[in-house]
Amino acid sequence: MSFLTLDSLSKRYGETTAVDSLDLSIERGEFVSLLGPSGCGKTTTLQMIAGFAVPSDGRIVMDGRDMTDLAPNARGFGIVFQSYALFPHMNVSENVGFGLEMRKIAAPERIRRIRQVLELVRLDHLEDRYPRELSGGQRQRVALARALVIEPPLLLLDEPLSNLDAKLREDMQLELRNIQRNVGTTTLMVTHDQGEALSMSDRVVVMDQGRAMQIAEPFQAYEEPADIFVSTFVGKTNLLEGQVASDGNGRHCFELGHQRIELTGLGVVGNGPVRISIRPERLEMTPRRQGLVDGRVQTRQFAGDHWLYQIDTPVGLLLATCPNCGPAGFNVGDEVGVRWTPDSVRLLSDTPKTAVPVGGVS
Ligand code: ATP
Repeated sequence: MSFLTLDSLSKRYGETTAVDSLDLSIERGEFVSLLGPSGCGKTTTLQMIAGFAVPSDGRIVMDGRDMTDLAPNARGFGIVFQSYALFPHMNVSENVGFGLEMRKIAAPERIRRIRQVLELVRLDHLEDRYPRELSGGQRQRVALARALVIEPPLLLLDEPLSNLDAKLREDMQLELRNIQRNVGTTTLMVTHDQGEALSMSDRVVVMDQGRAMQIAEPFQAYEEPADIFVSTFVGKTNLLEGQVASDGNGRHCFELGHQRIELTGLGVVGNGPVRISIRPERLEMTPRRQGLVDGRVQTRQFAGDHWLYQIDTPVGLLLATCPNCGPAGFNVGDEVGVRWTPDSVRLLSDTPKTAVPVGGVS
């Protein structure tokens, strides 16, 4: 049995369905992220689990116990919000110890646990400082320590790193995940940042309009997106529209302008319009006439570890990335070819939760 189960959880605000029959099972010790665009229902889901919003339908079960109607403080979860709201008049130790005091934990035990958790988040040398005397990252760690010190069965994080600058945010992503691994607390994090969700999570729940579009390990969500929404929201991609045509002998082709891409190893593909997805890093740029399609470089951007090209081709504008192994190989205006291997292509069917590898160009 899973540790935390959301069973057909829904929340409606008048005409708005913020969360729509969400089913999710989380194992003990897992780190799961709710990922999706603004307004897709991430925070509402977290609020229902925390007990701050009452579900319209469905159940929340933890460790076999129905928590749906339990008051927030009776759930005993650790929560870190985007605005981590430390008490300004309390120093670091007092902020962290506040929850223990509320729980009437005796002073010696309180002091021991505060020390232990401050060591964990590497703030033991700053225990007497006040929040105004700390950097953003240090304040964020105090908020985390405050949530962890009560030894919660579940840690809920709502955009916990979004107030930090890019470099600190990356450092904290690593640090937060390491801390979570060390303490083993089951964690659910809300984020709209796909890089953050992919790099930190055991599994991601990609949400759109209150629904879970895909629940998968990060690699799988990226490599085998369930549908068009997931393929465009999780990472960048080239979406190409074409027609599937049958040759009458059980074989199918994807027709893209004048290109014909043979579909191999597919069980079900009917005739009609479909879309395929190819990730930019799977496109290889070649000299003209050596690729599968020819085109002209329209833009080039330097992104530090890679170059990003937009190539105008007869099948549409293609986005290609090349690792930075030295100066750029192509200039704006260059005539180039573009190729990809058959296993780079995903056929995005209208049927949710299927994306299948297709074959090479004929
Ligand atoms: P963001 O990333 O912008 O925080 P989100 O994915 O967390 O977005 P929610 O805050 O869960 O989204 O909101 C989901 C939907 O529910 C939105 O359409 C929002 O306007 C609506 N909503 C949220 N809270 C309320 C409320 N208290 N009353 C009415 N509508 C609400």
